[in-house]
Amino acid sequence: MQTARTTEQWRELDAAHHLHPFTDPHSLNQQGARVITRGEGIHLWDSEGHKIIDGMAGLWCVNIGYGRKDLPEVARRQMEDLAYYNTFFKTTHPAVVELSHLLSEVAPEGFRHIFYTNSGSESVDTMMRMVRHFWAVQGKPEKKVLIGRWNGYHGSTIGGASLGGMTYMHEQGDLPIPGIEHVEQPWWYKYGKDMTPEEFGLAAARWVEDKILEVGPERVAAFVGEPIQGAGGVIIPPSTYWPEVERICRKYDVLLVADEVICGFGRTGEWFGQQTMGFRPDIFTTAKGLSSGYLPIGAVFVGDRVANVLVAGGDFNHGFTYSGHPVAAAVAHANVKALRDEGIVDRVKNETGPYMQERWRATFGNFDHVDDVRGVGLIQGFTLVRNKATHELFPEWGTAGTMCRDIFFENNLIMRACGDHIVAAPPLVITKAEIDEMLGVAGRCLERFEKVVR
Ligand code: PLP
Repeated sequence: MQTARTTEQWRELDAAHHLHPFTDPHSLNQQGARVITRGEGIHLWDSEGHKIIDGMAGLWCVNIGYGRKDLPEVARRQMEDLAYYNTFFKTTHPAVVELSHLLSEVAPEGFRHIFYTNSGSESVDTMMRMVRHFWAVQGKPEKKVLIGRWNGYHGSTIGGASLGGMTYMHEQGDLPIPGIEHVEQPWWYKYGKDMTPEEFGLAAARWVEDKILEVGPERVAAFVGEPIQGAGGVIIPPSTYWPEVERICRKYDVLLVADEVICGFGRTGEWFGQQTMGFRPDIFTTAKGLSSGYLPIGAVFVGDRVANVLVAGGDFNHGFTYSGHPVAAAVAHANVKALRDEGIVDRVKNETGPYMQERWRATFGNFDHVDDVRGVGLIQGFTLVRNKATHELFPEWGTAGTMCRDIFFENNLIMRACGDHIVAAPPLVITKAEIDEMLGVAGRCLERFEKVVR
């Protein structure tokens, strides 16, 4: 719904009444929010008529691109038929049944059961309760510690923020809650440069083993990680990391959980990041690309080992009023079907993903203050450094990143700064010509940035 107000009026009302997530209200109100009014494909428009390239697919979520006409039509029809009914207490509805069937088809083998939520954070919290329940119904209630990673991101609820490793989030609200442990992230550039990436991958996996042994395997319920850490700055582990983590989890009978909220639904060129990184979790959490952000919905995919115990285990006293909401489910179904039947995920794997990686490296590889240029599929990053030869980072982590991000934004390109990592994750429908357009703007912005930091 848009009313005929001026940008200034929207900004004033926004400042007066709207508390924004992850935003310093003071600096927001000084600058005024940018008012986004329309989207089409990979582009957005603001209320002043500027056309913006969205190199982040919103918050890594608009996989199918903006402005699809079929998804609103599906929503409208579903609202007319059945706008709402719940899935508690032995009821279901066709939209959620069809979605579950489709998701079991696109999921890796052995994932035939799905629990619905409204967001990534709720998926993570659901998973946390589920793994503890899994061990408790088998007579092991003490096996309840969850191990996450520093700089991992698992959402903003008390559970998700605790499991995540963002210390600036822990500092607010007395987090983490008890029963959560963290290990260091598999970031070769920072922690492993005296080894080959493959050696470092094994060493980083051993941090997981050390933590399991420190806590005691009989107390550890699960290890949880993003296949590729997204908000932590697109940290791609060496190829040896995940298979070794899987071996360790099996050895100590610890559940392995992948948080696929960003990596899921084609972002890495496979349907799920676990397939790109070569491991098989017991459970994985999703949201974002499940509906491409057209409506809020999340899903926890439960592998057979866990599902068999849950199915035999009686009531799981957990759920949300909108678990499996019919309109969100119908839209997610249409979205996933389009990602599959229109060959969008296949294109990321075979065409646009490889092209993006080649162009990304060619565009950024030769800048003096850019290092560790990396990516896979349509998720990529690089790190701003003070001295490339010595791999020295800038002294105040995040300042250079924010400066660079702001230059992009002024030039109508959205890419994100995670500290001094610059990352991008455009809609999966981006074409080769649009990749050229996006990286052309980004390259010119980097030239400006380098002149400023010199
Ligand atoms: N898990 C991961 C890996 C995420 O990246 C995010 C959000 O960025 C979440 C969980 C939380 O998702 P939401 O913001 O939908 O609650």
